[in-house]
Amino acid sequence: MIRVKKISRPKEMTLSERVYLLEIAKGLSVTINHFISNLLNPRKIPTIDYPDVKRPVPARFRGRHRLTKREDGNPKCVACMCCPTICPALCITIEAGEHPDPKIEKYPIRFDIDMLRCVFCGLCVEACPVDAIRMDTGWYTMPEKSRDDLVYDIEMLLSD
Ligand code: SF4
Ligand code: SF4
Repeated sequence: MIRVKKISRPKEMTLSERVYLLEIAKGLSVTINHFISNLLNPRKIPTIDYPDVKRPVPARFRGRHRLTKREDGNPKCVACMCCPTICPALCITIEAGEHPDPKIEKYPIRFDIDMLRCVFCGLCVEACPVDAIRMDTGWYTMPEKSRDDLVYDIEMLLSD
Protein backbone atom coordinates (compact mmCIF):
# COMPACT_ATOMS: atom_id res chain seq x y z
CA MET A 1 0.00 0.00 0.00
CA ILE A 2 1.32 3.46 -0.91
CA ARG A 3 1.61 5.80 2.05
CA VAL A 4 0.54 9.31 1.29
CA LYS A 5 1.82 12.14 3.42
CA LYS A 6 -0.66 14.94 3.81
CA ILE A 7 0.78 18.42 3.66
CA SER A 8 -1.16 21.08 5.46
CA ARG A 9 -1.40 24.27 3.46
CA PRO A 10 -2.60 27.67 4.66
CA LYS A 11 -6.15 28.16 3.57
CA GLU A 12 -6.01 31.77 2.58
CA MET A 13 -3.24 34.38 2.39
CA THR A 14 -3.54 37.46 4.54
CA LEU A 15 -3.64 40.90 2.86
CA SER A 16 0.02 41.62 3.70
CA GLU A 17 1.02 38.27 2.20
CA ARG A 18 -0.95 38.98 -0.95
CA VAL A 19 0.73 42.32 -1.66
CA TYR A 20 4.19 40.80 -0.93
CA LEU A 21 5.29 43.99 0.83
CA LEU A 22 7.20 42.15 3.52
CA GLU A 23 9.00 39.96 0.96
CA ILE A 24 9.81 42.97 -1.22
CA ALA A 25 11.25 44.76 1.83
CA LYS A 26 13.31 41.65 2.69
CA GLY A 27 14.69 41.46 -0.85
CA LEU A 28 15.51 45.16 -0.90
CA SER A 29 17.30 44.90 2.43
CA VAL A 30 19.57 42.18 0.99
CA THR A 31 20.31 44.36 -2.06
CA ILE A 32 20.96 47.46 0.05
CA ASN A 33 23.22 45.48 2.43
CA HIS A 34 25.32 44.31 -0.54
CA PHE A 35 25.38 47.82 -2.00
CA ILE A 36 26.62 49.38 1.25
CA SER A 37 29.19 46.64 1.93
CA ASN A 38 30.52 47.00 -1.66
CA LEU A 39 30.76 50.78 -1.19
CA LEU A 40 32.69 50.34 2.03
CA ASN A 41 34.92 47.49 0.79
CA PRO A 42 35.37 47.96 -2.99
CA ARG A 43 38.36 45.56 -3.00
CA LYS A 44 36.11 42.69 -2.03
CA ILE A 45 33.90 43.11 -5.11
CA PRO A 46 34.43 39.91 -7.16
CA THR A 47 33.71 41.59 -10.52
CA ILE A 48 36.21 43.64 -12.57
CA ASP A 49 35.81 46.68 -14.83
CA TYR A 50 36.03 44.66 -18.05
CA PRO A 51 37.16 45.58 -20.74
CA ASP A 52 39.25 48.33 -19.06
CA VAL A 53 40.59 45.73 -16.64
CA LYS A 54 41.32 42.20 -17.82
CA ARG A 55 42.09 39.16 -15.74
CA PRO A 56 45.58 37.69 -16.34
CA VAL A 57 45.46 34.51 -18.37
CA PRO A 58 47.37 31.36 -17.32
CA ALA A 59 50.85 30.87 -18.78
CA ARG A 60 49.70 27.98 -20.99
CA PHE A 61 46.51 29.71 -22.16
CA ARG A 62 45.94 29.30 -25.91
CA GLY A 63 45.02 32.69 -27.30
CA ARG A 64 45.14 34.20 -30.76
CA HIS A 65 48.11 33.00 -32.86
CA ARG A 66 51.20 34.98 -33.73
CA LEU A 67 54.10 34.27 -36.04
CA THR A 68 57.56 34.66 -34.55
CA LYS A 69 60.29 36.60 -36.36
CA ARG A 70 63.97 36.21 -37.16
CA GLU A 71 66.43 38.88 -35.99
CA ASP A 72 65.97 40.72 -39.32
CA GLY A 73 62.20 40.91 -38.79
CA ASN A 74 61.27 38.26 -41.37
CA PRO A 75 59.03 35.36 -40.31
CA LYS A 76 60.77 32.30 -38.86
CA CYS A 77 58.31 30.14 -40.77
CA VAL A 78 59.94 27.98 -43.45
CA ALA A 79 56.61 27.03 -45.06
CA CYS A 80 57.10 23.35 -44.27
CA MET A 81 53.30 22.83 -44.30
CA CYS A 82 53.28 20.85 -41.05
CA CYS A 83 50.73 23.14 -39.41
CA PRO A 84 48.13 23.19 -42.22
CA THR A 85 48.55 19.42 -42.51
CA ILE A 86 47.87 18.72 -38.84
CA CYS A 87 45.17 21.38 -38.39
CA PRO A 88 41.88 19.50 -37.75
CA ALA A 89 39.81 22.53 -38.80
CA LEU A 90 41.71 23.07 -42.08
CA CYS A 91 41.85 26.76 -41.33
CA ILE A 92 45.48 27.50 -42.20
CA THR A 93 46.33 28.51 -45.76
CA ILE A 94 49.98 28.89 -46.73
CA GLU A 95 51.59 29.70 -50.06
CA ALA A 96 55.30 28.94 -50.10
CA GLY A 97 57.93 30.93 -52.00
CA GLU A 98 61.64 30.51 -52.70
CA HIS A 99 63.66 32.50 -50.20
CA PRO A 100 66.39 34.80 -51.64
CA ASP A 101 68.74 33.60 -48.87
CA PRO A 102 70.16 30.23 -50.06
CA LYS A 103 70.44 29.06 -46.45
CA ILE A 104 66.64 29.27 -46.11
CA GLU A 105 64.78 27.01 -48.46
CA LYS A 106 61.29 28.50 -48.36
CA TYR A 107 59.20 31.20 -46.69
CA PRO A 108 55.47 31.93 -46.62
CA ILE A 109 54.30 34.40 -49.27
CA ARG A 110 50.83 34.01 -47.82
CA PHE A 111 49.91 32.76 -44.33
CA ASP A 112 46.22 33.00 -43.40
CA ILE A 113 44.37 31.62 -40.39
CA ASP A 114 40.58 31.60 -40.49
CA MET A 115 39.77 32.34 -36.85
CA LEU A 116 36.11 31.48 -37.37
CA ARG A 117 37.08 27.88 -38.08
CA CYS A 118 39.96 27.51 -35.61
CA VAL A 119 39.15 25.35 -32.58
CA PHE A 120 42.20 26.54 -30.60
CA CYS A 121 43.53 23.02 -30.21
CA GLY A 122 47.18 24.15 -30.37
CA LEU A 123 48.27 21.33 -32.70
CA CYS A 124 49.77 23.82 -35.16
CA VAL A 125 52.07 25.13 -32.41
CA GLU A 126 53.11 21.62 -31.39
CA ALA A 127 53.76 20.56 -34.99
CA CYS A 128 56.00 23.49 -35.92
CA PRO A 129 59.64 22.36 -36.13
CA VAL A 130 61.09 25.88 -35.90
CA ASP A 131 58.89 27.52 -33.21
CA ALA A 132 57.48 29.87 -35.83
CA ILE A 133 53.89 29.89 -34.60
CA ARG A 134 52.71 30.48 -31.06
CA MET A 135 49.41 31.03 -29.26
CA ASP A 136 50.83 33.02 -26.35
CA THR A 137 49.30 36.42 -27.15
CA GLY A 138 46.74 36.02 -24.34
CA TRP A 139 44.27 37.56 -26.80
CA TYR A 140 40.90 35.85 -26.64
CA THR A 141 38.50 38.59 -27.74
CA MET A 142 38.42 39.03 -31.48
CA PRO A 143 35.46 41.22 -32.39
CA GLU A 144 35.41 42.20 -36.05
CA LYS A 145 32.83 43.85 -38.28
CA SER A 146 32.85 41.19 -40.98
CA ARG A 147 33.68 37.51 -41.40
CA ASP A 148 36.47 38.37 -43.85
CA ASP A 149 38.22 40.43 -41.15
CA LEU A 150 38.50 37.26 -39.06
CA VAL A 151 40.79 35.66 -41.61
CA TYR A 152 44.10 36.88 -40.18
CA ASP A 153 46.84 37.36 -42.75
CA ILE A 154 50.62 37.29 -42.35
CA GLU A 155 50.91 41.01 -41.54
CA MET A 156 48.36 40.65 -38.75
CA LEU A 157 50.01 37.47 -37.41
CA LEU A 158 53.44 39.13 -37.42
CA SER A 159 52.23 42.31 -35.72
CA ASP A 160 52.62 41.07 -32.12
S1 SF4 B 1 44.83 25.92 -33.06
FE1 SF4 B 1 44.17 23.96 -34.00
S2 SF4 B 1 42.41 24.53 -35.24
FE2 SF4 B 1 43.48 26.44 -34.76
S3 SF4 B 1 44.87 26.80 -36.47
FE3 SF4 B 1 46.03 25.64 -34.92
S4 SF4 B 1 45.77 23.49 -35.49
FE4 SF4 B 1 44.20 24.65 -36.56
S1 SF4 C 1 54.75 24.34 -39.03
FE1 SF4 C 1 55.90 26.21 -38.55
S2 SF4 C 1 57.43 26.38 -40.16
FE2 SF4 C 1 55.91 24.88 -40.84
S3 SF4 C 1 54.45 26.09 -42.06
FE3 SF4 C 1 53.64 26.03 -39.99
S4 SF4 C 1 54.45 27.87 -38.97
FE4 SF4 C 1 55.65 27.54 -40.82
